[in-house]
Formats: sequence, C-alpha cells, structure tokens
Amino acid sequence: MELKFYNTLSRNLDTFQALTPGCVRMYTCGPTVYNFAHIGNFRAYTFEDILRRTLEYFGYTVTQVMNLTDVDDKTIRDSRAAKLPLQVFTRKYKDAFFDDIKTLNIESAEVYPAATDHIQEMIALIETLMEKGFAYKASDGCVYFSIAKFEKYGQLARIDRDNQRDGVRISNDEYAKDAVGDFALWKAWDEVDGDVAWDSPWGKGHPGWHIECSAMSMKYLGDSFDIHTGGVDNMFPHHEDEIAQSEAVTGKKWVNYWLHCEHLMVDNTKMSKSLGNFFTLRDLLDKGWTGREIRWVLIGAHYRKKLNFTFDALKLARETLNKFDEFFKRMRSIKNEGNGHSAAEAVRDAKLAFASALADDLNISPALAALFDLMRKINRLADDGQLDATGAEAVLVTFRDFDRVIGCFDVDSVKEDDAVPAEVTALAEARAAARKEKNWAESDRLRDEIAKLGYTIKDAPGNVWQIQKI
Ligand code: AMP
Ligand code: ZN
Repeated sequence: MELKFYNTLSRNLDTFQALTPGCVRMYTCGPTVYNFAHIGNFRAYTFEDILRRTLEYFGYTVTQVMNLTDVDDKTIRDSRAAKLPLQVFTRKYKDAFFDDIKTLNIESAEVYPAATDHIQEMIALIETLMEKGFAYKASDGCVYFSIAKFEKYGQLARIDRDNQRDGVRISNDEYAKDAVGDFALWKAWDEVDGDVAWDSPWGKGHPGWHIECSAMSMKYLGDSFDIHTGGVDNMFPHHEDEIAQSEAVTGKKWVNYWLHCEHLMVDNTKMSKSLGNFFTLRDLLDKGWTGREIRWVLIGAHYRKKLNFTFDALKLARETLNKFDEFFKRMRSIKNEGNGHSAAEAVRDAKLAFASALADDLNISPALAALFDLMRKINRLADDGQLDATGAEAVLVTFRDFDRVIGCFDVDSVKEDDAVPAEVTALAEARAAARKEKNWAESDRLRDEIAKLGYTIKDAPGNVWQIQKI
C-alpha cells in the first residue's frame, strides 16, 4: 500500500518515497526549553508521533532527530530573570519535556541534540555561508543571511521575496541589516546576554535560532533527508530560513517532504504561551486526567485541521477508553473453543480500513472509525454466543497492532482487582468440560466452588461462558 502525505512544499498529496528504501530520516523541530511545554506544543509532538508510528507500521525504520533549543533570546532572558546559569535553568525544562513525552506515550526520537552542544557545527555552516557570499556581517556585529542571494527563497511559504516579512516583528537590534527579510545567523553579544556567549570568527555571541536546525539536522541526517515537520507557525520564517541556509551551503535539495500540523485552539484562538490561554500537560494531570486521555484528544482530529480543546472532549475520551478497556476485558474472558472463523471477516475489514486511512495522509477519523466498528461487530458476535477464544484472541492481537500507531490502549492490562485468579479460571474450564459431557452434577459442584471464591459463570448459547465477579 502506498503512503501519501500532503507536502507543504508541493501543496499536493504526494506519494511517499524514501531516499533510502525502507528507511526514513526525519527531523522535527523540538521545544524551546524555557518553560513547561503546553498541550498546543504537544499537539505538534503527538502528530509527529503518529507520523513516525505510521511509518513504522508500514515497515519503515525511522531515524528521527528532534532538537532542544536550549539557547535563544527567551532562554537567555528567563534564565537571567531566574538568576540561574543557562544550563541549570534549561535542564529543568529538558527533564520535564522527557517526562511529559513519556506520559503521552510519544515514542523517543533517536537523537535529541541540544543547541548548546552544537555551536561549532553552527559556526562551520555560517563560515561556509560567508565564504559563498550568502552571509554578511553588519555594523551591529551580527551576521545575517542575505535572502536576495538565494534565488529560491520563499519556495516553501510561497511568498514574494521582496515583501516577505510583512507582519513579522523585526527586533530593534536588527535594523543594521541590508534588507528587512535578512535574518540573523550569529547574534553579537549584548549586555542582556550576561555571561551567555561563545567565541566565533565574528566575535562573542550566540547563534540565531534557524541555524540550529540546519546544523543539527544535517549532522545527524545528512545533507538531504526525507521528512521535516513542525506546527504551521514554524513554516514561515523558521522553515523557510532553514531551507535557505541548508541549500545555500550544500547546493542540494535539502528535504523532500514537509508536513505541518494545524494549531490546537481554545475558544477559536491559538493556544500559546504569549496569550496565556494555555494548559501545560501538568495542569491537566493535576486535574486528574491521564496521559492516554489527553493523547486521545490530541490525536483525534486530522493534523491539518484546527482542533478546539475542551474538557468535554477529555470526558468523552475517558468514556471511550473505558469502553475499550471493558471490551478487551470481555475478549480476555471468552474461553470457549472454536476456530475463530466468525471474527475473521470483521478483523480483516478493520485492518484494511485502518491501514488505508492512515496511508491517506494520516486520515485519523476513518482509522478510529475502523476500531469502533470492529468493537461493535465483535461485541454483537459475543452477545450472540458466536465468538470463540481463538476469535477473541485474534481481536486482541489486532488491537495490539492498531495500538502500535494509536498508543492509547491497555489491551493487556488487567488491574489487580479485576484479575480473575488462575484457580477460578481452572475451575471454570473444568466446569465447561463437565457440561460438554453433560455431567450436570459435577458442573453444579464446580459452580458452587467458584461461587465460594466470589465468582459466577455467565453462560450463553454455544457453550460460551464468561467469568464475572459476584
Ligand atoms: P515552540 O516551543 O514555540 O518552538 O513550539 C514547539 C512546537 O509546537 C512547534 O512545532 C510549534 O509549531 C508547535 N505549536 C506551538 N503552539 C501550538 C498550538 N497551539 N497548536 C499546535 N502546535 C503548536
Ligand atoms: Zn526548526
């Protein structure tokens, strides 16, 4: 089955072809570690997780790099306000980020490079850009990229090179540059930077944000790689600038597929730190919501559609996941013999619907619909006594497989208080065997034994039975 993704670069649904067959190299812009990430940020990271897991589901080996922006104007500003060394200040938020992605069951990237560990790589890129004439040092001591020198500037955002920074705030210290659209590669040290500075051929200072991603992606993924992602707000100028720097250095096409996710909204406004309308993951955990409930909400809408965050959505997520838990429990309790034939068709249809939906630009709604559909059909078979243990096991295997992408289910977790003791299961099996032989006396005796242990057996037609707590 072909995978198709909406590629921001081509504005088309493109068939995915990896540069190296079977392997995908992918870069995802990571967090700026000056605060706890909010669930808007996590919408971007869960989208990238679904993308990664889908690629794996389709058999690709994924090498994912996600950077940690641990130096920029915001990290410097806030570490100084906190009177902490930059590294100490950002450590706390790096650790929090790793805890949070674990809570949300986001698969780990292969590399999480931190900007401060790659200053030399950034300097090397800027040196090449200077040598090739794409960069210049301005009177303010900063080094800028000259967008006039890069023919293809604007290819991603499809903007006119001459008017391209309308609406983008230009900081006061950047008036020395030649053109309004030129962006900083190296920022000269300023008093507000305190002791945060590195030496460079252009004097003391720190790198610009965009050069980080070019340096770290190419270090770990090569001059050209398959996929680059981020939220739509990163597309311009950040990603446009990344392309300009990287392609100006190598002269090669940098990235083949660009995927951008839409925003998480609150009352029709983008959730963002600056607007103050955000919840961190921790805020929601403190209110009693769980990682998988939050994840279910974040992955529930197609990544290219805006998603409005509400507590009703979390409530619904809780109900839905509980329903799936109950369903898995029911499947585990089905013990009667058979060849699984009755469930086979529903399982096959669901697998096909699930895979086709994901292959179609990660179309999550029909993918989730396939899960609900399978649960409904299988429950009906079980109600009618037509589901046997082999079929139930096949259903569980299928959901485990779906969960490789969805990452929200507890297919196998039996909570302590729900677990049926092995002794009861053995008695129930012996009772089923006695009933098969029409040994009613023995069957009644075993039923009483089971009752003494606090369980009862619910029989359905066709020698189907379930163990229930009294
Ligand atoms: P930042 O830490 O601001 O650089 O953002 C990290 C990632 O989160 C980027 O990919 C952003 O595009 C993304 N992002 C920020 N706010 C939202 C939002 N409300 N919804 C979805 N993604 C967001
Ligand atoms: Zn980036």
